[in-house]
Amino acid sequence: MSLPRFLVSPEALDGATTELSGAELRHLRVRRLRAGSGLILTDGTGRERHGVVVDVDHRHAVIRLTAAAVRPDASGSRLILAQALLKGGKLDFVIEKATELGVADVRLFTCERSVHRVPPERLARWERVALSAAKQCQRSSVPSITGPTEYAVALQVPALLRLMFWEGARTNPLPSLRERQPTASSVLAIVGPEGGFTAAEAHQAADAGVHLVGLGGRILRAETAALVAVTLCQYLWGDLAAASA
Ligand code: SAH
Repeated sequence: MSLPRFLVSPEALDGATTELSGAELRHLRVRRLRAGSGLILTDGTGRERHGVVVDVDHRHAVIRLTAAAVRPDASGSRLILAQALLKGGKLDFVIEKATELGVADVRLFTCERSVHRVPPERLARWERVALSAAKQCQRSSVPSITGPTEYAVALQVPALLRLMFWEGARTNPLPSLRERQPTASSVLAIVGPEGGFTAAEAHQAADAGVHLVGLGGRILRAETAALVAVTLCQYLWGDLAAASA
């Protein structure tokens, strides 16, 4: 049986007891945890500890920390998704699925054919989406969501392998890249907006040393492309290739 996870500050993991309040307390009450129930506390960076509920009321829940259950995420490769801003709620979907698929960071960017503005409350909303997806899929770390930055900044996100998914690329170099680079400590996958990248943007990426990747003759919706890109990278360099404990 898997135990529910609750987010606490890194310092809270070092003590003998801690308290949950706010959203975490609501989550605990929704899950109907009571005195004696077991749970896992995580600091969102991969550190975890087991705990037991000692007391719970409307204001707070007191948790006694037990074993130091450090379970770093299995993926040996850090996958970063650089995603152009998308319209409406499409980024909610991309962030939720990218979290389930083990993406470490989501970097948002704007480019020529993307929307350029994000309502300020959106970033907080995406963080909540990532947090609840991380809980649901029992990840011990929550991906960071940052940006939006300019396109040029997204191209320079440091990673051992930088890939841009571009519908104008006639080939898919991923299998040969995998052969040359069987392991990669970090991979950056860049996916464009609904309107796609301009040819100039694709050339700018290639000039910056980014590999251009085509996904066959079909044009995928941006949110589909993001999921495919993440899945392929996790399969080739991450934890989808071999089931790890
Ligand atoms: N509006 C454009 C398509 C944009 S698709 C057009 O009609 O031509 C949105 C994003 O998904 C693209 O920027 C790209 O990053 C990715 N994508 C979609 N289809 C792709 C493909 N066949 N190969 C590589 N990337 C693709």
